[in-house]
Amino acid sequence: MEKSSKPQKKLVPIIPIRDGIVFPHTESILTFGRPKSLAALESAFNGERVVCFVLQRNPRQNDPVPQDLYKTGTVSHIERMIRSDGEVNALVRGLTRAKILSYEDKGSYFLAEIQEIEETGTDSPEIKALTNHLISEFKKALNFGKQADFLVFMNIMSEITSSELADQIASTLDIKGSERQEILETNDVKMRLEKVSEFLSREVKVLELERKIASKTQEHFEKSAKEAILRERLKTIEKELGESDEGGEIRELLEKAKKELKKLQQTTPYNPEAGYIRNYLDWLVALPWKTKSKDNQDLKHAEKILNDDHYGLEKVKERIIEYLAVNKLAGKMKGPIICFVGPPGVGKTSICKSIARSLNRKFVKLSLGGIRDEAEIRGHRRTYVGALPGRIIQGVKDAGTKNPVFMLDEIDKVGADFRGDPTAALLEALDPEQNNQFSDHYLDVDFDLSDVMFITTANMLDTVPPALRDRLEIIRFPGYTEQEKYHIAHDFLIKKQKSAHGLKESDVDISNDALRHVIRRYTREAGVRSLEREISGVMRKVARARAEGKRAKVLVTPKNTDRFLGPAKFSSTIAEKRNEVGISTGLAYTEVGGDILFIEVALMPGKGNLTLTGKLGDVMKESCQAALSYIRARSSKFGIPEDFYHKLDIHVHVPEGAVPKDGPSAGAAITTALVSALTKIPTNHLVGMTGEVTLRGRILEIGGVKEKIIAAHRAGLKTIIMPKENRKDLEDVPKEVMSDLRFIFVSHMDDVLKIVLTRPLPGFKVIKGEKVPSVKNITSLQPTPAD
Ligand code: ADP
Repeated sequence: MEKSSKPQKKLVPIIPIRDGIVFPHTESILTFGRPKSLAALESAFNGERVVCFVLQRNPRQNDPVPQDLYKTGTVSHIERMIRSDGEVNALVRGLTRAKILSYEDKGSYFLAEIQEIEETGTDSPEIKALTNHLISEFKKALNFGKQADFLVFMNIMSEITSSELADQIASTLDIKGSERQEILETNDVKMRLEKVSEFLSREVKVLELERKIASKTQEHFEKSAKEAILRERLKTIEKELGESDEGGEIRELLEKAKKELKKLQQTTPYNPEAGYIRNYLDWLVALPWKTKSKDNQDLKHAEKILNDDHYGLEKVKERIIEYLAVNKLAGKMKGPIICFVGPPGVGKTSICKSIARSLNRKFVKLSLGGIRDEAEIRGHRRTYVGALPGRIIQGVKDAGTKNPVFMLDEIDKVGADFRGDPTAALLEALDPEQNNQFSDHYLDVDFDLSDVMFITTANMLDTVPPALRDRLEIIRFPGYTEQEKYHIAHDFLIKKQKSAHGLKESDVDISNDALRHVIRRYTREAGVRSLEREISGVMRKVARARAEGKRAKVLVTPKNTDRFLGPAKFSSTIAEKRNEVGISTGLAYTEVGGDILFIEVALMPGKGNLTLTGKLGDVMKESCQAALSYIRARSSKFGIPEDFYHKLDIHVHVPEGAVPKDGPSAGAAITTALVSALTKIPTNHLVGMTGEVTLRGRILEIGGVKEKIIAAHRAGLKTIIMPKENRKDLEDVPKEVMSDLRFIFVSHMDDVLKIVLTRPLPGFKVIKGEKVPSVKNITSLQPTPAD
């Protein structure tokens, strides 16, 4: 193929544009709806993603043919496409100017042969001078209020070529289509700079004139009205609070505000500074410096509201009432901060709202997920363009009182990076010793947060910074059993969704069996968020039937749920699976609560390579290595050839790849799957297990017991093998779960294998009369001496 730097001829799809122009060196987001445009776009997107945009002579023409289009267009690259409702939004980047040589009708769109155009006259002292002039005109236009994309502004202020500058500014001009085309057709850089300058100067003149007219009438009105309002508000604050100003903070605030007001009166309204000052003053007067809602401290009342709004959660409610009692006695929020820990959808937010309601306080929520920047919490200094107070102060303003219940959601998702550590600011806001003088960079006057009742939440505690964790009083939400979900749905969610969809009690009846069917086959979660969504799905269908005039009462039964919700999302329960070789069932604890996971092992002839897949974390990978070492050390006992390790490749996989999995507690399950694969003895599929395994096979204590057990129960397991040390953790597992499951506590891997493998290993003696021993439903095996 011939390679040259000469402008190339190409065949590309053509897309007509009604009035805008994509200039080279610019990016824009365009919306396409015409069938031909969509076809051309799709065809380009499937190939090199290159198209040529060409302006129509008449913007109103709906289906233009080649004669209706200009002869020069812009070759552009489609960076991204989002399709929605028959429309397509695309991010496109203009590349070069091109002449259109000939068209080819493809039926659904036009293809054209084009010739890219080379630029001429790109460097001379004259061009330099013109460029500088253009930049200063552009700045002037911005000062007069010209609207321009921030990105364009940044580009223009950075080092770009004169040609790029001309095109980028051209893209912001307020001119006619034909004038834009004229600029596009101006290939010579010097001439293009001149043209763009000319148009820009015209725009500046118009802006200047508009300003004059507007300012004459408005200046007077706006300035005096705004200032009068501000002054009035300041006066009220002064009057109301002046007498009771304990710490002198209000005085400081008023001083500050007066100073700013004075500054405002001295600035001309054109000056952007005036806007900033006004904005700042607005914030000062809008904050609830002293406004409080009156607390209802009746604990009986609080208990009633918590019970009215939530099923179950006895322990949680009890702890909350205790907490409120302590605060009532202390008279102020002085103790540690509550932190609700649990998977999504278990009612953390909803309990916070109830607490606010019971105390007669306002409720605000700030989601900390993904916040990396200290300024998000504490605000930007006022010298920063577009500065605002941080989210804490914004939240307090939204509440309108200085004593709201303030929920800080997902504190486990706060991260630190080069923009500073938000944790430090959070600590200051939460610390009762110093939060009566919380300093926000924007406000620059201390704000008293000591009356705010902060409540934090997290999915997992592992990633909460230790300094923060020390301040927290942890209250755990372990996730719901099937029975609890049933009651929550029956007593709360169905009623709530009925009224949200404008339905009467008698409009629809979801049978009890149908509800259980939905819980089992349409959701798999620790909380009830998906369940609520499914119920809302049913109500939506019913509401629609009502709107269409159908009057009969709707009955939802297990048989007809798919008419409302589509086919079941989760088909097989564990009970329907079979005993298999090389598979074991582990219990895991992740951000979304407890869950069961299957470990699969496949063996192939090979050279001892170990492959691990399924998004396993480092700790889990190490568990695999440790399991192999344990097995190698005992191969003769297991009846496995000693040198198996040299002759086989081993693949360990944990399905449901999207969720990252880690932690040592899958050790027992991994070892079991490996032994089963190597000995060809199937595992009992109704037995689940959790426990860390040492190289010598000892089983160590693990965390998240309650959550794991609830998940095992949900999945239909019958027997659970757990480390002996975890026996103590069974205390608060719900009774109905305990009675459906059998627990076996072990301290050595050998015991696990005796229980879970469906045939005894050759080297093991069967303990007489029991593969799965049972004393009531809790059993301990005698520990096998380690080696
Ligand atoms: P989280 O904040 O833990 O993610 P939400 O508070 O948003 O969960 O709860 C999801 C939904 O489930 C809400 O509509 C909530 O009212 C409801 N819900 C959760 N737990 C209960 C419960 N124990 N009783 C009644 N409704 C509940």
